[in-house]
Amino acid sequence: MNFFPKSKSEVNFSLFDVTMAATLSAFRGPLDDLDQRGKIMAEYVWLGGAETSGGIDMRSKTMTLDSVPKSPDELRVWNYDGSSTGQAPGENSEVLIKPVAIFPDPFRRDPNIIVLCEAILPKTFAPIPTNTRRKAKEHFDKKPELVPWFGIEQEYTLMKADVPKPFGFPNGGGFPAPQGPYYCGAGHDSAIGRPVADTHYKACLYAGLKIAGINAEVMPGQWEYQIGPSVGIESGDHMWMSRYLMLRVCELMGVNVTFDPKPATGDWNGAGCHTNFSTKPMREDGGYKVIIDAVEKLGVKHMEHIKCYGEGNDRRLTGAHETAAIDKFSYGVANRGASIRIPTDTEAAQKGYFEDRRPASNMDPYVVTGKIFETTCL
Ligand code: ADP
Ligand code: MN
Ligand code: MN
Ligand code: MN
Repeated sequence: MNFFPKSKSEVNFSLFDVTMAATLSAFRGPLDDLDQRGKIMAEYVWLGGAETSGGIDMRSKTMTLDSVPKSPDELRVWNYDGSSTGQAPGENSEVLIKPVAIFPDPFRRDPNIIVLCEAILPKTFAPIPTNTRRKAKEHFDKKPELVPWFGIEQEYTLMKADVPKPFGFPNGGGFPAPQGPYYCGAGHDSAIGRPVADTHYKACLYAGLKIAGINAEVMPGQWEYQIGPSVGIESGDHMWMSRYLMLRVCELMGVNVTFDPKPATGDWNGAGCHTNFSTKPMREDGGYKVIIDAVEKLGVKHMEHIKCYGEGNDRRLTGAHETAAIDKFSYGVANRGASIRIPTDTEAAQKGYFEDRRPASNMDPYVVTGKIFETTCL
Protein backbone atom coordinates (compact mmCIF):
# COMPACT_ATOMS: atom_id res chain seq x y z
CA MET A 1 0.00 0.00 0.00
CA ASN A 2 1.19 3.50 -0.80
CA PHE A 3 0.23 6.73 0.84
CA PHE A 4 0.73 10.07 -0.80
CA PRO A 5 1.92 9.51 -4.30
CA LYS A 6 3.29 13.03 -4.34
CA SER A 7 6.62 13.17 -2.58
CA LYS A 8 6.31 16.86 -1.81
CA SER A 9 3.44 16.25 0.57
CA GLU A 10 5.56 13.84 2.58
CA VAL A 11 8.12 16.52 3.25
CA ASN A 12 5.55 18.58 5.11
CA PHE A 13 4.85 16.01 7.78
CA SER A 14 7.78 16.42 10.09
CA LEU A 15 8.03 20.19 9.79
CA PHE A 16 6.22 20.87 12.99
CA ASP A 17 5.49 18.47 15.78
CA VAL A 18 2.06 18.18 17.30
CA THR A 19 3.12 19.23 20.79
CA MET A 20 4.72 22.39 19.47
CA ALA A 21 1.61 23.28 17.47
CA ALA A 22 -0.63 22.71 20.49
CA THR A 23 1.64 24.77 22.72
CA LEU A 24 1.69 27.70 20.31
CA SER A 25 -2.10 27.62 19.85
CA ALA A 26 -2.57 27.75 23.62
CA PHE A 27 -0.25 30.75 23.91
CA ARG A 28 -2.29 32.81 21.48
CA GLY A 29 -5.17 33.02 23.93
CA PRO A 30 -3.95 35.58 26.48
CA LEU A 31 -3.35 38.29 23.88
CA ASP A 32 -6.49 37.67 21.84
CA ASP A 33 -8.60 40.17 23.79
CA LEU A 34 -6.14 43.07 23.50
CA ASP A 35 -7.74 46.22 22.08
CA GLN A 36 -6.98 46.75 18.40
CA ARG A 37 -7.31 50.55 18.83
CA GLY A 38 -9.94 50.77 16.13
CA LYS A 39 -7.84 49.10 13.45
CA ILE A 40 -8.96 46.12 11.38
CA MET A 41 -6.90 43.14 10.26
CA ALA A 42 -7.73 42.03 6.71
CA GLU A 43 -6.30 38.67 5.66
CA TYR A 44 -5.93 38.75 1.85
CA VAL A 45 -6.21 35.20 0.46
CA TRP A 46 -5.32 34.08 -3.07
CA LEU A 47 -4.59 30.97 -5.11
CA GLY A 48 -0.92 30.25 -5.70
CA GLY A 49 0.46 28.33 -8.64
CA ALA A 50 2.44 25.59 -6.89
CA GLU A 51 1.43 22.93 -4.41
CA THR A 52 1.52 23.57 -0.70
CA SER A 53 -0.44 22.11 2.19
CA GLY A 54 -2.97 19.43 1.28
CA GLY A 55 -1.94 19.34 -2.38
CA ILE A 56 -3.55 22.69 -3.19
CA ASP A 57 -1.97 26.14 -3.03
CA MET A 58 -3.61 28.90 -0.99
CA ARG A 59 -1.61 31.83 0.29
CA SER A 60 -2.45 34.83 2.44
CA LYS A 61 -1.03 37.93 4.09
CA THR A 62 -2.48 40.64 6.29
CA MET A 63 -3.11 44.34 5.82
CA THR A 64 -4.20 46.82 8.51
CA LEU A 65 -7.31 48.85 7.64
CA ASP A 66 -8.82 51.91 9.32
CA SER A 67 -12.39 50.69 8.98
CA VAL A 68 -14.48 47.69 7.96
CA PRO A 69 -15.21 47.84 4.22
CA LYS A 70 -18.78 47.36 3.03
CA SER A 71 -17.83 45.81 -0.30
CA PRO A 72 -14.69 44.41 -1.99
CA ASP A 73 -14.54 47.50 -4.26
CA GLU A 74 -13.63 49.64 -1.24
CA LEU A 75 -10.51 47.55 -0.67
CA ARG A 76 -7.06 48.25 -2.05
CA VAL A 77 -5.65 46.12 -4.83
CA TRP A 78 -2.49 44.65 -3.27
CA ASN A 79 0.44 42.75 -4.70
CA TYR A 80 2.69 39.79 -3.98
CA ASP A 81 5.87 38.12 -5.17
CA GLY A 82 4.68 35.72 -7.86
CA SER A 83 8.16 34.23 -8.19
CA SER A 84 7.69 32.69 -4.73
CA THR A 85 4.38 31.03 -5.64
CA GLY A 86 5.31 29.56 -9.03
CA GLN A 87 3.38 32.27 -10.87
CA ALA A 88 5.94 34.75 -12.24
CA PRO A 89 9.60 34.99 -13.21
CA GLY A 90 11.95 36.60 -10.65
CA GLU A 91 12.83 39.56 -12.86
CA ASN A 92 9.18 40.49 -13.33
CA SER A 93 7.69 39.05 -10.19
CA GLU A 94 4.83 41.31 -9.24
CA VAL A 95 1.28 39.96 -9.34
CA LEU A 96 -1.71 42.01 -8.21
CA ILE A 97 -4.50 40.70 -5.99
CA LYS A 98 -7.92 42.22 -6.43
CA PRO A 99 -10.50 41.64 -3.67
CA VAL A 100 -13.64 39.79 -4.84
CA ALA A 101 -15.37 38.70 -1.61
CA ILE A 102 -15.23 39.52 2.12
CA PHE A 103 -15.83 37.08 5.01
CA PRO A 104 -15.80 37.52 8.81
CA ASP A 105 -12.55 36.02 10.17
CA PRO A 106 -13.29 33.07 12.53
CA PHE A 107 -9.72 33.04 13.83
CA ARG A 108 -9.20 36.72 14.68
CA ARG A 109 -12.98 37.24 14.93
CA ASP A 110 -15.01 40.44 14.46
CA PRO A 111 -14.28 43.06 13.32
CA ASN A 112 -11.41 41.37 11.43
CA ILE A 113 -12.01 39.99 7.96
CA ILE A 114 -10.74 37.56 5.36
CA VAL A 115 -10.63 38.88 1.81
CA LEU A 116 -10.74 36.47 -1.11
CA CYS A 117 -8.82 37.84 -4.10
CA GLU A 118 -8.23 37.08 -7.75
CA ALA A 119 -4.75 37.39 -9.23
CA ILE A 120 -4.23 39.82 -12.11
CA LEU A 121 -1.31 41.32 -14.05
CA PRO A 122 0.02 44.78 -13.29
CA LYS A 123 -0.68 47.41 -15.98
CA THR A 124 -3.13 45.38 -18.10
CA PHE A 125 -5.13 44.00 -15.13
CA ALA A 126 -5.64 40.83 -17.21
CA PRO A 127 -6.10 37.57 -15.27
CA ILE A 128 -2.90 35.51 -14.79
CA PRO A 129 -3.11 31.92 -16.15
CA THR A 130 -4.04 30.42 -12.75
CA ASN A 131 -6.92 32.89 -12.34
CA THR A 132 -9.70 30.47 -13.29
CA ARG A 133 -12.37 32.60 -11.62
CA ARG A 134 -12.51 35.17 -14.40
CA LYS A 135 -13.50 32.70 -17.13
CA ALA A 136 -16.12 31.00 -14.97
CA LYS A 137 -17.68 34.35 -14.12
CA GLU A 138 -17.77 35.29 -17.81
CA HIS A 139 -19.73 32.09 -18.50
CA PHE A 140 -22.25 32.75 -15.71
CA ASP A 141 -22.65 36.40 -16.72
CA LYS A 142 -23.84 35.33 -20.20
CA LYS A 143 -27.10 33.85 -18.89
CA PRO A 144 -27.89 35.13 -15.38
CA GLU A 145 -31.57 34.36 -15.99
CA LEU A 146 -30.79 30.63 -15.65
CA VAL A 147 -29.84 31.16 -11.97
CA PRO A 148 -27.45 28.17 -11.80
CA TRP A 149 -27.27 26.48 -8.39
CA PHE A 150 -24.28 24.40 -7.35
CA GLY A 151 -24.10 22.20 -4.25
CA ILE A 152 -20.61 20.74 -3.87
CA GLU A 153 -19.68 17.82 -1.58
CA GLN A 154 -16.07 18.30 -0.51
CA GLU A 155 -14.45 15.08 0.70
CA TYR A 156 -11.05 15.31 2.41
CA THR A 157 -8.71 13.08 4.39
CA LEU A 158 -7.08 13.96 7.71
CA MET A 159 -3.44 12.99 7.91
CA LYS A 160 -1.23 12.41 10.91
CA ALA A 161 1.36 15.08 11.58
CA ASP A 162 4.19 12.69 12.44
CA VAL A 163 3.83 9.98 9.78
CA PRO A 164 2.36 10.28 6.27
CA LYS A 165 -0.72 8.17 7.02
CA PRO A 166 -4.41 8.95 7.29
CA PHE A 167 -6.05 9.16 10.71
CA GLY A 168 -7.02 5.67 11.84
CA PHE A 169 -4.12 3.90 10.09
CA PRO A 170 -1.55 2.41 12.51
CA ASN A 171 1.82 4.21 12.60
CA GLY A 172 3.78 1.03 12.03
CA GLY A 173 2.61 -1.71 9.68
CA GLY A 174 -0.91 -3.04 9.45
CA PHE A 175 -4.29 -1.62 8.64
CA PRO A 176 -7.42 -0.44 10.36
CA ALA A 177 -10.56 -2.60 10.29
CA PRO A 178 -12.07 -2.74 6.78
CA GLN A 179 -14.50 -0.07 5.59
CA GLY A 180 -18.00 -0.30 6.97
CA PRO A 181 -18.25 1.36 10.38
CA TYR A 182 -16.68 4.70 9.44
CA TYR A 183 -19.32 6.18 7.10
CA CYS A 184 -21.50 8.46 9.27
CA GLY A 185 -20.07 6.53 12.22
CA ALA A 186 -20.00 7.37 15.91
CA GLY A 187 -17.53 6.14 18.51
CA HIS A 188 -13.81 6.41 19.19
CA ASP A 189 -12.86 3.62 16.77
CA SER A 190 -15.27 4.70 14.01
CA ALA A 191 -15.50 8.49 13.80
CA ILE A 192 -11.87 9.48 13.52
CA GLY A 193 -11.04 13.19 13.59
CA ARG A 194 -14.45 14.62 14.43
CA PRO A 195 -13.02 17.62 16.37
CA VAL A 196 -11.39 18.84 13.15
CA ALA A 197 -14.56 18.40 11.07
CA ASP A 198 -16.69 20.10 13.73
CA THR A 199 -14.30 23.01 14.31
CA HIS A 200 -14.17 23.61 10.58
CA TYR A 201 -17.99 23.53 10.42
CA LYS A 202 -18.19 26.28 13.08
CA ALA A 203 -15.51 28.31 11.31
CA CYS A 204 -17.48 28.15 8.05
CA LEU A 205 -20.71 29.23 9.74
CA TYR A 206 -18.94 32.14 11.45
CA ALA A 207 -17.46 33.20 8.12
CA GLY A 208 -20.93 33.22 6.55
CA LEU A 209 -20.20 30.39 4.12
CA LYS A 210 -23.17 28.44 2.76
CA ILE A 211 -22.18 25.17 4.39
CA ALA A 212 -25.06 22.70 4.14
CA GLY A 213 -23.77 19.95 6.44
CA ILE A 214 -20.99 17.49 7.26
CA ASN A 215 -20.60 13.72 7.51
CA ALA A 216 -17.95 11.12 8.23
CA GLU A 217 -16.95 9.23 5.09
CA VAL A 218 -16.27 5.64 4.11
CA MET A 219 -12.49 5.53 4.68
CA PRO A 220 -11.11 6.09 8.20
CA GLY A 221 -10.07 9.72 8.68
CA GLN A 222 -12.11 10.80 5.66
CA TRP A 223 -14.84 13.41 6.07
CA GLU A 224 -17.14 15.50 3.91
CA TYR A 225 -18.82 18.87 4.03
CA GLN A 226 -21.21 20.37 1.52
CA ILE A 227 -21.18 23.95 0.24
CA GLY A 228 -24.34 25.29 -1.36
CA PRO A 229 -26.64 25.57 -3.05
CA SER A 230 -24.85 28.69 -4.24
CA VAL A 231 -25.66 30.75 -7.30
CA GLY A 232 -22.96 30.94 -10.00
CA ILE A 233 -19.56 32.26 -9.01
CA GLU A 234 -20.44 32.27 -5.29
CA SER A 235 -20.03 28.49 -5.35
CA GLY A 236 -16.35 28.66 -6.28
CA ASP A 237 -15.74 31.57 -3.90
CA HIS A 238 -17.27 29.74 -0.93
CA MET A 239 -15.58 26.46 -1.86
CA TRP A 240 -12.12 28.02 -1.97
CA MET A 241 -12.72 29.92 1.25
CA SER A 242 -13.92 26.72 2.96
CA ARG A 243 -10.69 25.00 1.90
CA TYR A 244 -8.65 27.90 3.26
CA LEU A 245 -10.50 27.60 6.58
CA MET A 246 -9.76 23.85 6.59
CA LEU A 247 -6.04 24.51 6.15
CA ARG A 248 -6.16 27.04 8.99
CA VAL A 249 -8.12 24.76 11.35
CA CYS A 250 -5.67 21.92 10.70
CA GLU A 251 -2.77 24.31 11.32
CA LEU A 252 -4.33 25.26 14.64
CA MET A 253 -4.92 21.66 15.68
CA GLY A 254 -1.51 20.36 14.61
CA VAL A 255 -2.72 17.94 11.93
CA ASN A 256 -2.60 17.80 8.16
CA VAL A 257 -5.31 17.49 5.56
CA THR A 258 -4.98 16.18 2.03
CA PHE A 259 -7.30 16.81 -0.89
CA ASP A 260 -5.64 13.99 -2.83
CA PRO A 261 -8.32 11.91 -4.63
CA LYS A 262 -6.86 8.56 -3.51
CA PRO A 263 -4.80 8.97 -0.34
CA ALA A 264 -4.56 5.21 0.33
CA THR A 265 -4.30 2.66 -2.46
CA GLY A 266 -6.04 -0.68 -2.19
CA ASP A 267 -9.50 -1.39 -0.88
CA TRP A 268 -10.09 2.10 0.45
CA ASN A 269 -12.46 4.73 -0.93
CA GLY A 270 -11.02 7.75 -2.69
CA ALA A 271 -12.13 11.34 -2.15
CA GLY A 272 -14.34 13.24 -4.56
CA CYS A 273 -16.11 16.54 -4.98
CA HIS A 274 -19.56 15.55 -6.26
CA THR A 275 -21.06 18.59 -7.94
CA ASN A 276 -24.85 18.92 -7.76
CA PHE A 277 -26.28 21.25 -10.36
CA SER A 278 -29.56 22.78 -11.47
CA THR A 279 -30.83 25.76 -13.40
CA LYS A 280 -34.13 27.59 -12.93
CA PRO A 281 -35.78 25.69 -15.81
CA MET A 282 -34.63 22.37 -14.28
CA ARG A 283 -36.23 23.30 -10.95
CA GLU A 284 -39.57 24.24 -12.55
CA ASP A 285 -42.35 22.02 -13.93
CA GLY A 286 -41.16 20.19 -17.02
CA GLY A 287 -37.60 20.38 -15.68
CA TYR A 288 -36.86 16.67 -16.07
CA LYS A 289 -36.52 16.98 -19.83
CA VAL A 290 -34.12 19.92 -19.39
CA ILE A 291 -32.08 17.79 -16.97
CA ILE A 292 -31.85 14.82 -19.35
CA ASP A 293 -30.87 17.14 -22.23
CA ALA A 294 -28.09 18.62 -20.08
CA VAL A 295 -26.84 15.19 -18.98
CA GLU A 296 -26.73 14.03 -22.61
CA LYS A 297 -24.64 17.10 -23.50
CA LEU A 298 -22.20 16.19 -20.71
CA GLY A 299 -21.94 12.69 -22.18
CA VAL A 300 -20.77 14.07 -25.53
CA LYS A 301 -17.94 15.99 -23.86
CA HIS A 302 -17.03 13.36 -21.24
CA MET A 303 -13.26 13.26 -21.72
CA GLU A 304 -13.06 17.04 -22.06
CA HIS A 305 -14.65 17.31 -18.61
CA ILE A 306 -12.52 14.55 -17.09
CA LYS A 307 -9.39 16.47 -18.16
CA CYS A 308 -10.32 19.42 -15.96
CA TYR A 309 -11.90 17.55 -13.02
CA GLY A 310 -8.75 17.25 -10.87
CA GLU A 311 -5.23 15.80 -10.81
CA GLY A 312 -4.82 12.09 -10.12
CA ASN A 313 -8.51 11.36 -10.67
CA ASP A 314 -7.49 8.27 -12.68
CA ARG A 315 -6.39 6.69 -9.37
CA ARG A 316 -9.91 7.28 -8.01
CA LEU A 317 -12.31 6.69 -10.93
CA THR A 318 -11.70 2.96 -11.23
CA GLY A 319 -15.27 1.72 -11.48
CA ALA A 320 -15.05 0.42 -7.89
CA HIS A 321 -15.66 2.18 -4.56
CA GLU A 322 -18.84 3.98 -5.68
CA THR A 323 -17.25 5.46 -8.82
CA ALA A 324 -17.69 5.00 -12.56
CA ALA A 325 -14.75 4.09 -14.80
CA ILE A 326 -12.88 7.17 -16.00
CA ASP A 327 -13.20 6.39 -19.73
CA LYS A 328 -16.92 5.54 -19.83
CA PHE A 329 -19.78 8.00 -19.42
CA SER A 330 -22.95 6.75 -17.78
CA TYR A 331 -25.96 8.12 -15.94
CA GLY A 332 -28.82 6.71 -13.97
CA VAL A 333 -31.43 7.33 -11.31
CA ALA A 334 -30.08 6.66 -7.79
CA ASN A 335 -26.98 5.02 -9.32
CA ARG A 336 -23.84 5.70 -7.27
CA GLY A 337 -21.76 3.72 -9.77
CA ALA A 338 -22.60 6.11 -12.63
CA SER A 339 -20.79 9.25 -13.79
CA ILE A 340 -24.00 11.23 -13.24
CA ARG A 341 -26.65 10.35 -10.67
CA ILE A 342 -30.19 11.64 -10.94
CA PRO A 343 -31.69 11.67 -7.44
CA THR A 344 -34.82 9.56 -6.89
CA ASP A 345 -36.68 12.69 -5.72
CA THR A 346 -35.89 14.44 -8.98
CA GLU A 347 -37.27 11.61 -11.07
CA ALA A 348 -40.38 11.40 -8.88
CA ALA A 349 -41.06 15.15 -9.03
CA GLN A 350 -40.01 15.33 -12.71
CA LYS A 351 -37.88 18.36 -11.79
CA GLY A 352 -34.89 19.14 -9.58
CA TYR A 353 -31.17 18.61 -10.13
CA PHE A 354 -28.47 16.10 -11.01
CA GLU A 355 -25.18 15.08 -9.43
CA ASP A 356 -21.92 14.98 -11.39
CA ARG A 357 -19.94 12.38 -9.42
CA ARG A 358 -16.76 12.64 -11.49
CA PRO A 359 -14.89 15.65 -10.00
CA ALA A 360 -11.98 14.76 -7.69
CA SER A 361 -11.56 16.21 -4.21
CA ASN A 362 -8.73 18.46 -5.44
CA MET A 363 -10.66 19.92 -8.39
CA ASP A 364 -10.82 23.67 -8.98
CA PRO A 365 -14.46 24.62 -8.31
CA TYR A 366 -14.19 27.64 -10.61
CA VAL A 367 -13.16 25.34 -13.47
CA VAL A 368 -15.73 22.62 -12.76
CA THR A 369 -18.77 24.87 -12.20
CA GLY A 370 -17.85 27.04 -15.19
CA LYS A 371 -17.35 24.00 -17.41
CA ILE A 372 -20.65 22.36 -16.44
CA PHE A 373 -22.48 25.62 -17.14
CA GLU A 374 -20.67 26.13 -20.45
CA THR A 375 -21.41 22.61 -21.70
CA THR A 376 -25.02 22.41 -20.59
CA CYS A 377 -26.24 25.99 -20.95
CA LEU A 378 -24.19 28.01 -23.45
P1 ADP B 1 -25.28 12.79 -1.38
O1 ADP B 1 -26.56 12.07 -1.18
O2 ADP B 1 -24.76 12.63 -2.77
O3 ADP B 1 -24.26 12.47 -0.34
P2 ADP B 1 -25.37 15.47 -0.14
O4 ADP B 1 -26.56 15.59 0.74
O5 ADP B 1 -24.07 15.26 0.50
O6 ADP B 1 -25.68 14.34 -1.27
O7 ADP B 1 -25.21 16.77 -1.03
C1 ADP B 1 -26.22 17.20 -1.89
C2 ADP B 1 -25.94 18.63 -2.24
O8 ADP B 1 -26.86 19.02 -3.27
C3 ADP B 1 -26.13 19.62 -1.10
O9 ADP B 1 -24.99 20.43 -1.01
C4 ADP B 1 -27.33 20.46 -1.54
O10 ADP B 1 -27.17 21.79 -1.14
C5 ADP B 1 -27.26 20.34 -3.05
N1 ADP B 1 -28.53 20.57 -3.73
C6 ADP B 1 -29.77 20.30 -3.29
N2 ADP B 1 -30.70 20.69 -4.19
C7 ADP B 1 -30.02 21.24 -5.23
C8 ADP B 1 -30.41 21.83 -6.47
N3 ADP B 1 -31.68 21.92 -6.83
N4 ADP B 1 -29.42 22.27 -7.30
C9 ADP B 1 -28.14 22.16 -6.95
N5 ADP B 1 -27.72 21.63 -5.79
C10 ADP B 1 -28.64 21.17 -4.93
MN1 MN C 1 -22.66 13.64 0.33
MN1 MN D 1 -19.48 11.58 0.05
MN1 MN E 1 -22.80 12.71 -3.54
